[in-house]
Amino acid sequence: MTRLDARRLEAAGLTNVGMVRQSNQDAFGESGSPDGSARVFVVADGMGGHAGGETASRLAVEAVEEVFASAKGSLDVRLRAAVDAANARVYETQLQDARLAGMGTTGVALGFGSEGAWVANVGDSRAYRLRGGLLEQLTQDHSVVAEMQRRGYITAEEAHVHPRRNEVLRSLGTEPGVDVDVTPVEVMPEDLFLLCSDGLCGVVEDGEIAGLLARQPIEDAAAALVEAANRHGGPDNVTVQVVRIPAHALVAEVQERSSAAWWLAAVALLGLLAAWLLVGS
Ligand code: CA
Repeated sequence: MTRLDARRLEAAGLTNVGMVRQSNQDAFGESGSPDGSARVFVVADGMGGHAGGETASRLAVEAVEEVFASAKGSLDVRLRAAVDAANARVYETQLQDARLAGMGTTGVALGFGSEGAWVANVGDSRAYRLRGGLLEQLTQDHSVVAEMQRRGYITAEEAHVHPRRNEVLRSLGTEPGVDVDVTPVEVMPEDLFLLCSDGLCGVVEDGEIAGLLARQPIEDAAAALVEAANRHGGPDNVTVQVVRIPAHALVAEVQERSSAAWWLAAVALLGLLAAWLLVGS
């Protein structure tokens, strides 16, 4: 058995307005429990006009950071509480301010703790894992084109250029409640995780993402991914968070168990010795 020490994770995040847009409506952040044993990384892609989009993604990231840090319970429970809080905060804010009416945001959050990792998502921002050169998408997009693709109406290539490619079917903050996908994620040494907005994954092909994500150090990987999106025209805001699992972040529990077993054996021996002395006297 191994235990993940989240304090040892390496992370690098970056956001960029892109080559076309006037404002950046993406946001990202990270936080953790006070002792650092549980950490969360989050990316949000706001929508609903200039002010609304920026506000929605920022509020969602802040809510995830705050609630994950203070929530109790297992990793998945904390993650779900954090994303539910993000939904509530964005929704309540737009009820109070007519200028923000109609705003919403995607949200993808990756949580790490001693028991491993979980991912939560709403919308079409994504989480990926790169392992042994293979890039695997960990989240399912809640978007019109992803649904059409799942039903076999269009191919992945067609989805990339489809006129409705920006329409999401679920978002944070547009309804009082939201259905959040919360999924366990297996973690191995040297895994690389990527959270990104569609300004990256809707623009740069998976093969190119995989190559750039493998760059070391991870700050270079994050910069190279943003640069690639802009090189491909940068039609949208682009945000990436890269998390690396160094080998020493996975700690073998066998050692601790065996040292506990030694203690138990020592106590038992002492007990036997005491009993023998008592019987003998
Ligand atoms: Ca976007």
